[in-house]
Amino acid sequence: MTNNIRSSFVAQGTATSEADRDAYKLRGLMPAVVETLEKQATRAFEQLRNKTSDLEKYIFLAWLRNTNTRLFYKLVMDSPEEIMPLIYTPTVGAACVNYSHIYPFLGPNGNFDGLFISIDDLPIIDQIIENYKNSLPSSEISPDIAVVTDGSRILGLGDLGVGGMGIPVGKLQLYVAAAGIDPRKTLPICLDFGTNNQKNLDDPLYIGLRRNRPEDPEFYQAVDTVLASLNKAFPKMLIQFEDFSSEHAFELLDRHRERYLSFNDDIQGTGAVILSGFINAVREVGIPAKQHKLLFFGAGSAGVGVAKQIMDYFVLEHGMTEDEAKRLFWLNDSKGLVTLDRGDKLAQHKVYFARDDNEGKQFKDLKETIKHVRPTALIGLSSQGGVFTPEILELLAEINERPIVFPLSNPATQAECSFEQAMIHTKGKVLFASGTAFPRYKDEQGVEHVPGQGNNMYIFPGLGLGAILARPSRITDTIIYASAAALADSLTENERKSHLLYPRIDRIREVSAVVAAAVCRQAVKENLATEPEILSILPVGETAEVGTPAWDELIKHVEGNMWKPVYETEIISRM
Ligand code: NAD
Repeated sequence: MTNNIRSSFVAQGTATSEADRDAYKLRGLMPAVVETLEKQATRAFEQLRNKTSDLEKYIFLAWLRNTNTRLFYKLVMDSPEEIMPLIYTPTVGAACVNYSHIYPFLGPNGNFDGLFISIDDLPIIDQIIENYKNSLPSSEISPDIAVVTDGSRILGLGDLGVGGMGIPVGKLQLYVAAAGIDPRKTLPICLDFGTNNQKNLDDPLYIGLRRNRPEDPEFYQAVDTVLASLNKAFPKMLIQFEDFSSEHAFELLDRHRERYLSFNDDIQGTGAVILSGFINAVREVGIPAKQHKLLFFGAGSAGVGVAKQIMDYFVLEHGMTEDEAKRLFWLNDSKGLVTLDRGDKLAQHKVYFARDDNEGKQFKDLKETIKHVRPTALIGLSSQGGVFTPEILELLAEINERPIVFPLSNPATQAECSFEQAMIHTKGKVLFASGTAFPRYKDEQGVEHVPGQGNNMYIFPGLGLGAILARPSRITDTIIYASAAALADSLTENERKSHLLYPRIDRIREVSAVVAAAVCRQAVKENLATEPEILSILPVGETAEVGTPAWDELIKHVEGNMWKPVYETEIISRM
């Protein structure tokens, strides 16, 4: 019990009641005052705001999380616009780069960030998992979700080795804040399989394995071993793969998605969130869906992944065949329009969308390509900052009453255009979503316009919560599609009137509940849900359309399961 009372999940600091101070022999170990959570938050905000750099703020917040978890989440949820950029992007990038240098400041009081699984420790993996179980504040607790990375492709920063731990830690904080997943049941995992980053290898303070990463056969075998042991210990746990190098990410997902409850946010979460913005853009444009033509500038893993996800929309919602839907897409890579007769050997993932109707002509220049295709939507995933020039934007606005322009590359310096440029050069006609947050734009009449942001946070927390509550045996493409469709439908009348493509981010908990409920409903529809509570609310074969009592019941159940940062008077309920 003494260990538990010091756990960051249980700790209430100066809010510990008089009775608990007596019962748990805490008198004298803290000042005599008994404060509220609100008062503590005021002090914590003051301390945070006195820090002079974002990295210092990150370190302070990490310390707070590992000291008093509820107070930490109170801050996140009271001021998400201020705190989220400090605990996740962009600050988390600096934290990951500097992880080996800031590490001693993380995890005082014996708390730790998550599970570090070294490739050398695989023979004792079961013992490692047992150690983790013993560290939990109560034997009743079992993790609901693990975010797993090997640190090999952290954001746009490349191979950061064990420094990648900052990402599962940060991402799971967003699951808690945005969807109310119980923080005690979140498990960040960093697979320490070495690093190919010479800077890490040369850094005397680097805290990961100081050797190169293994070859593919050993890599896949090692991940298989870890996942099998985790599944044995926690058979119901959801696994979210994160920031693996692109060549491993697709393969890992294919290998494990049927075997374990799992998904990859970089691939499926991104696809779903962009699809959702596209659905709302199509509604705004008002021309029949089948008349849309989409030009993708950038045909890498993100470009092709997003294109495939959007294709589902034409097939599932508009009854097109796969072949008909595919004909609405044109891809453009660094060599120009992707055609079958371009003369170079196309990478396998591009062949699917390669055009055969170019009549022998090749298009290298974006302007020429636009004149040829006459796209209704231009989607940038090329990392080529500024390529959607004023001329390109003007041309799109000439062709379309409401052009759809999604410059999705990250960070802002790599975005194909900014919101301001898109608004100015289309004379305010654009339907816009970006991969990075752009400021609002005030037009000449003084009216403020809000840019859409295809932020994965609209999808993964709700998708995770829905998967935890329904526990389908696997996460199918149609479950992912359902999450995107629910997000698209979650706009309020006011948001639609303001022509937004995504809901306002301050409604994120509400939106996550809707996404989670839609995931549960789809899991039941596909007869994959296994959680009795969900099946009693929505038996297999029954429907729950939005606006019906069955849907309301589902939402009530989801909301009732969302964790909130409040203090409990009974210590036992905090364990
Ligand atoms: P990638 O390297 O796999 O693909 C880049 C693509 O751009 C390639 O097809 C390449 O040929 C093409 N390209 C490069 N230079 C070009 C040029 N001059 N003209 C035309 N095409 C060119 O990268 P990726 O993983 O697909 O990511 C691409 C971008 O998408 C990144 O900036 C990433 O941050 C962004 N992204 C955003 C989101 C989001 O908004 N949620 C999600 C995923 C990726």
